[in-house]
Amino acid sequence: MNEARGLRTHYCGELGAADEGVPVVVCGWVDRRRTHGEHLAFLDVRDHTGVVQCVVDERIDARNEYVVRIAGVVRIRPEGTANPALATGEIEIGDCGVEILKRAEPMPIPLHTDVDENLRLRYRYLDLRRARMQRNLRIRARVNAAIRQAMDAQGFVEIETPMLVASTPEGARDFVVPSRLHPGSFYALPQSPQLFKQLCMVGGLDRYYQIARCLRDEDLRADRQFEFMQLDAEAAFVGAEEVIDFITTAVSHTVEAVTGSPLGEVPIITWNEAMDRYGSDKPDTRFGMELVDCTDLFAGTQARVFQVPCVKGITVTGGAEMGRNRIDELTAACKRWGAKGLAWFRVGESEDGAPVLDGALCKFMSAEEQATLPQRLEAGAGDMVMLIADEPRLANRVLGLLRLELGRPPVSEGGLAPLWVVDFPLFEDIDDEGNPQPAHHPFTMPHPDDLDYLVRGGGESLLRVRSQAYDLVINGWELGSGSVRIHDAAIQMQVFAALGIDEAEAERRFGFLLEAFGYGAPPHAGFAFGIDRLAALLAGEENIREVIAFPKTQSGADPLTSAPGPVEPAHLAELGLRLRPS
Ligand code: ASP
Repeated sequence: MNEARGLRTHYCGELGAADEGVPVVVCGWVDRRRTHGEHLAFLDVRDHTGVVQCVVDERIDARNEYVVRIAGVVRIRPEGTANPALATGEIEIGDCGVEILKRAEPMPIPLHTDVDENLRLRYRYLDLRRARMQRNLRIRARVNAAIRQAMDAQGFVEIETPMLVASTPEGARDFVVPSRLHPGSFYALPQSPQLFKQLCMVGGLDRYYQIARCLRDEDLRADRQFEFMQLDAEAAFVGAEEVIDFITTAVSHTVEAVTGSPLGEVPIITWNEAMDRYGSDKPDTRFGMELVDCTDLFAGTQARVFQVPCVKGITVTGGAEMGRNRIDELTAACKRWGAKGLAWFRVGESEDGAPVLDGALCKFMSAEEQATLPQRLEAGAGDMVMLIADEPRLANRVLGLLRLELGRPPVSEGGLAPLWVVDFPLFEDIDDEGNPQPAHHPFTMPHPDDLDYLVRGGGESLLRVRSQAYDLVINGWELGSGSVRIHDAAIQMQVFAALGIDEAEAERRFGFLLEAFGYGAPPHAGFAFGIDRLAALLAGEENIREVIAFPKTQSGADPLTSAPGPVEPAHLAELGLRLRPS
């Protein structure tokens, strides 16, 4: 490391008992100040490394957040005054001479206590002074550095792709930029570098990566911003297995670089298994509470609610205590998620120790059903059993959400539980207008054995087409996704057709890609994962805004710079634009 330290000789946070007697100069902000009478002040001085206490025996006017330069000598604190809560708590700097480099107005937000997020973002440059933000942004920087290292080591070439592009569909709206030189025409900002990275493969670059900025105009959430960074990668002459290997290596290396411990094994499960066991294509496997199929137990049931194609359940260990209000709340949630209701039973114990169900539905159930259900769900006295009876897809989905609601630990607990989900279907669903919804983007290669279903087309048959797409999931967050790509124009056209993109539109929007495939496109596959999400997981943060220096608020605004804002009429005119009265 370059040791040039400018105005200082040491950083505040690095001083300790070993430095006793050393003359030092530190620079930073006054974190707190305490005065004792007229002529004694204790200044806690803070820089990016931490805080050190400076004892000043002269009259000074150094208030909170003043920028100071302090020269003095390190000494051990007097007996009984050490502060074990502070890394430098054993020592202080004495005989201090204080130079005030810059005065500061009183802070508009408190730096030591929580404050409303809008205010934090309005004064983000002050908010960044907090230890939490300092730590998080440094974790993020380590993430970036480790990713680069791992990708370089695996022979990937860093290539920058443009920001002003034609639309790259990833399922969101585009942000568009009007062109001055081509009035009436617009660039899109990239939702991802997807098409360019595929063109790099046609271009013979073999292994591409980029820490890429992607922009998607969609509603913001805890794990979503308009713009985000992803590790974007693509490789030629490889399939899913190799990509999974490259990315696992990069993520493991990154996790180890930040936490000091390796990621451990990353299990691979199929999409079907994920939906079956967890009711989600991004299962949080930090906890159990797996979904258990009980349909067969109710094959000849008299209970109307269970006369359905699928009955599945979960066991809430120790859940028998759950109060009626909470159960009502959960029932309402299940209905919101699309279920007709929630069947629940408290589990007690008979005199001979067998589990006994207690719930309003018991009176409609046979003795055998009541006896086998807790067995199947491995429920014992003190537990709660919850069932959803419906179509299988819906039962899975609702139970998956219920499982999260009841069992999900906070982000900072339970360690990291990564897994790969493979064999996604090509289409996730058919929307109300009969259009299939792609599970990934339209450049994903269908499973070769299922091409027939694609050609025959239409409804349910489309839902049977498997794809060669895979996701990386950690703690219930979809960290990223990728796929083997189509590299043949004819297959690409079939997929476009299934998605309702006709030939003319395909030609207009993606003609360049189809043309490129004609000039010797190698088989290729790739992946991308969200760096904001990975950094947040590693920092133990629920919200990616905590690992982004200058994020937008939930409503997509930046209270600091007042973006988005109006544009001068002259500027609009130059762009050939006129605003419609709102
Ligand atoms: N382009 C995809 C995305 O941004 C990732 C990939 O398929 O490589 O989500």
